Amino acid sequence: MKRSCEVAIVGSGFAGSLLARVLAVQGYDVMLLERGTHPRFAIGESTTPLANLSLERLAVRYGLPDCYQLATHGRWMTHHPEVQRGLKRGFTYYRHHPGERFAERGLDSERLLVAASPEDALSDTHWVRADVDHHFVRQAVAAGVEYLDRTELTSAELEGGSARLYGRRDGGALEVEAGFVIDASGPGGFLARQLGIPSGLERTHTRAALMYSHFDDVRLMRDEVPTLPEGPYPDDWAAVHHLIDEGWMYSLRFDHGTTSAGFLLTPRGLASFGAHAGAEPALLWRALLERYPTIGRLFGGARATMPIGFVPTVQHRLTRAAGAGWALMPHAYAFVDPLFSTGIAWGLRAVERLALAFEDTARGSRKPDEATLARYDAALSAEGDQIDLVVAGAYEALAHFDLFAAQAMLYFASVSFAEVSQRLGGGDDVAWNGFLGVGDPVLAPVARESFERLRRITGATGAPGTAAERMAFVEWIGRAIAPRNVAGLADPARHHLYPVDFDVLMERHALLGLSRAALLERLPALRGLGPEPTFAEPRARGVGASDSARLDRKSLAGMRTGDESARMPTPGLS
Ligand SMILES: Cc1cc2nc3c(=O)[nH]c(=O)nc-3n(C[C@H](O)[C@H](O)[C@H](O)COP(=O)(O)OP(=O)(O)OC[C@H]3O[C@@H](n4cnc5c(N)ncnc54)[C@H](O)[C@@H]3O)c2cc1C
Repeated sequence: MKRSCEVAIVGSGFAGSLLARVLAVQGYDVMLLERGTHPRFAIGESTTPLANLSLERLAVRYGLPDCYQLATHGRWMTHHPEVQRGLKRGFTYYRHHPGERFAERGLDSERLLVAASPEDALSDTHWVRADVDHHFVRQAVAAGVEYLDRTELTSAELEGGSARLYGRRDGGALEVEAGFVIDASGPGGFLARQLGIPSGLERTHTRAALMYSHFDDVRLMRDEVPTLPEGPYPDDWAAVHHLIDEGWMYSLRFDHGTTSAGFLLTPRGLASFGAHAGAEPALLWRALLERYPTIGRLFGGARATMPIGFVPTVQHRLTRAAGAGWALMPHAYAFVDPLFSTGIAWGLRAVERLALAFEDTARGSRKPDEATLARYDAALSAEGDQIDLVVAGAYEALAHFDLFAAQAMLYFASVSFAEVSQRLGGGDDVAWNGFLGVGDPVLAPVARESFERLRRITGATGAPGTAAERMAFVEWIGRAIAPRNVAGLADPARHHLYPVDFDVLMERHALLGLSRAALLERLPALRGLGPEPTFAEPRARGVGASDSARLDRKSLAGMRTGDESARMPTPGLS
C-alpha cells in the first residue's frame, strides 16, 4: 500500500485528530495514522479555562461548532450528551496525614478550593477520553482526513524536508510519502525515536511514579466530612487533589458516576513502601488507603473497572520539538505531571500554533518555514521548563500545607491573568502567548525563584521549615504575583476558598491596562453573557486557505469582546 499526502500525523489522540481536521479544513491533504483503534482508554481528562478557550478559538476560526459546544459543561450537555464527561467547577485540595482522618477544623481546615467558573453551565469538564477522542477522530474523517488505524509504523526517513514513513497494515506493507510529518503519538513518540532526538530529562526536576485506574462507587468527600464549611462550589465536582506525604492523588468524577483516580508518588514516597513496591500495584494501592484513613474510606468500597496500572517514572522530555519537515506535539515532546492539569491546555495551544503556521503557508511552500518552526521549538522548550519549575516547586511545598497553598497561587495567578487578558484581547497571534507566564517579565522569573526558595526551606528533604520561613514564603508569593493578581488570590481573609470574583476583577482593572469603564463594558462577555459566535464556513478540500473570506475574523474578535474595536493591548505578555 503506497500513499502520499501533504501532512502525515502520527497518533490520533485529541491533539492529532484535531490538528488533522483543522489542516483538512484549510485545504491540506492529511493522513492520520493510528496504531490502535477507537474508542480506546486514555488518561489525562481534566480541562481548564485555558484549554477551553483554545477550543473556542479553534471553533470560531476554522468553523468547528462542536469544539465551541464542548468548551463548557452546559453547551456540551445541550449539544453532545452522548459524549461522556464530568462537571469540573474548579480545583479542590485536601492535605491528609498518615494514620489520621482528615481534620475538619472549619475555615482553618487544610483545604483549598479555587473556582474556575462562576456556575455549572459555564464550567470546565473532565473528558472521558475514550468518547472525546473518538468524537474528534470521526470529525476529522468527516472533514476529509484519511484515517488509517491498526497501523504499525516501523521506520521513517526524513530528507530534504519531506518524509517517508514505513510500516504495516492489514498484514501488508505500508509506505507513506509526506511533505510534513507531525508526531502526536504521545510519550516515547514514534518520530522522536526515529530521529534519535536525545532526552532532555536531566534538565528537569519533577519525578514521580504513577498508579492509576477508573473506579466505580467512590464516596464523596462531602459525604465523608459533611461539616466542612460551604465553599465556592461543591467540593467534589472539581479536580480533587488529596495531598499526602509521599506525593498526591487525583480524583476526577464523571457525570455517569465513574471516577478516574491515580496516585503520583515521589521517589522517596514510593521507597517508603519498600524496594519493590511498584511490582504489585494493587497491593501498593491498598497500602496507601490504609496509611490515609479518609482516602481509605473514599476508595475502600470502590471497584477498579480495569487493573490498576503502574508507571515507574511518568516524566519524559526531549531536546527538540521541531525541524525541517517535522514537529512534535507537546505530549510527544515532554510531560511533567498531572498536577495543575497543564497537558490538555498545552496540547490545544500547540494545535492552534501549528494550525496558524500552516495557514501562513497555504499559498506558498505549503509547510511552515524554518523561522516558525524555530519559534515553535523555542516556545515548547521554555514552557516545558516553566511547567516543570511550577510543579517541582509544588512537590517541594508538599512539606507543609501553607507552602503548598502559596505555591498554588503562582499557578492560579498565571492562568487567571492569561485567561482574562486573552478573552479581552484576542488577536490572531494570541496562541503564541507564552504558557504559564513564559514571556511575561513579571511572572516568568517567579517560577524558578519560588522553586529555589522552597528548596532552601525544605532542604530538598521534605522538611517543613520554621513557621517564620513559611510565613516569609507566603508573603513573598503574594508580593510576587501582585502585578498579575486579577483574581484576588493569596488573600488570608479568604481562608483558602476562592470564588470567581468579578468585583475584585473590576477593582483591579488597572492591572489589565483598562479603565474601570472599559472593563465594565466588557464584563458581560467575560461572564459568558456575550453573543453566540458565528463560525467560519468550513472549506471544501483542496482549496487554498488564505482567501480572506475563509476566516471570519470579525466573529473571532466578537466572540468575547463584542467587536473588533473592543480589542485592547495585553500588558506584559509576549
Ligand atoms: C496520570 C496522568 C494524568 C493526567 N491528567 C491530566 C489532566 O487532568 N489534565 C490535563 O490537561 N492533562 C493531563 N494529563 C496529560 C494528558 O494525558 C496529555 O496531555 C494528553 O493525553 C495528550 O494527548 P495527545 O492527543 O497529545 O496524546 P495521547 O493521548 O498520548 O495520544 C497518542 C495517540 O497516539 C497513538 N500512538 C502511539 N504510538 C503510536 C505509533 N507508533 N504509531 C501510531 N499511533 C501511535 C496512541 O495509540 C494514541 O491514540 C495527564 C497525564 C497523565 C500521565
